[in-house]
Amino acid sequence: MFHKFKKKTLFTPGPLSTSYKTKKSTLIDLGSRDVEFIKINKLLSAELLKIGKAKDYLCIPLQGSGTFGLESILSTLLNKKSNILIISNGIYGDRLVKICRKIKKKFHLIKFNENKSFSKVKIERHIKKNKSITHIGLVHCETSSGILNPLEEMALLSKKYKKKLIVDAMSSFGGININIQKNNLEALVSSANKCLEGIPGFCFCIVKKKSLSKCKENSSSLALDLYGQWQGFLKNNQWRFTPPTHSIIALFSAIEQLKKEGGVNKRNKRYKKNYLTLVKGMEKLGFDTYLKANLRSPIIVSFKFLKDTKFNFISFYKELSNLGFLIYPGTTTKEKTFRIGCIGNINSKNINLLLKAIQKTLLKMKIRYL
Ligand SMILES: *Cc1c(COP(=O)(O)O)cnc(C)c1O
Repeated sequence: MFHKFKKKTLFTPGPLSTSYKTKKSTLIDLGSRDVEFIKINKLLSAELLKIGKAKDYLCIPLQGSGTFGLESILSTLLNKKSNILIISNGIYGDRLVKICRKIKKKFHLIKFNENKSFSKVKIERHIKKNKSITHIGLVHCETSSGILNPLEEMALLSKKYKKKLIVDAMSSFGGININIQKNNLEALVSSANKCLEGIPGFCFCIVKKKSLSKCKENSSSLALDLYGQWQGFLKNNQWRFTPPTHSIIALFSAIEQLKKEGGVNKRNKRYKKNYLTLVKGMEKLGFDTYLKANLRSPIIVSFKFLKDTKFNFISFYKELSNLGFLIYPGTTTKEKTFRIGCIGNINSKNINLLLKAIQKTLLKMKIRYL
């Protein structure tokens, strides 16, 4: 073997730990133009629409990580007259702004603190004052802190003011129930390697059929033109450019397993149990969570660094990695934090093993916990 990897459990927001079954499903080479592969793609799109309860929508998969999907949706749905109001309370919200700047789409930005939810009053005031706003863009679960933003409330607001709502549901789709149809979303973007527990390689956009059909001229990109991608599928049921065949089979297998688990609600229960076990155990070890309890998601949790001067995150991280546990650095700007993911093919037993390893690491660092 070219390199012997040490097996580690991932407590990260994606790529994350996947099941043996999912990994094993990739042990086949499929031709991109083969009838069997074409069939899997059709079934996969239908399954994703079912998970999102989206009837009058299209599910268009796209090569690349989640950001590719976000760039493609913004580049394809927004035209010269569009003006999107981006609401951000973290890095991924800010990324929507970065994309709009880069691809030269008009936007407004309302920013909230990383540890605060959206203020509906402030948003409503901004919408009333700025009549040119056509779209609203937001992140459902802001993975940088773990905050869960009020999707349904924002969907009601969008309906009230007739704005089209575009949602980055990268780290929530498949782990938290989202009713796309009922919330009248314009589009939702997610990826194969988060709560659906597939492997990296592609993302997908679930978009209103009526809207996408009017977007032929909008994108100035070839590879990220979602309209073009759709037309490609319409023409011959094939991907326009080389598809990530192994990732596609893996997601197909992962969705079969999601169904066997009992669907999104059951998966959400497992993640919640992971989350509760984690927070309780970490608090016992002396760690404080970054967010107030009512703002947290069962997806990923931010913890504050310990005040003890002997606490050093890099050594802490390395030691846990040596023991076979991968946690995640933090990105919050005003406070030093690190993150632990609750998603992926892990359960509360894995969380308890992680907690034991953390306890061992603290002892080694000579940090006295409570
Ligand atoms: C993972 C993630 C993305 C996409 O990031 P990539 O690195 O491109 O996969 C976007 N938004 C959120 C909220 C995410 O969690």
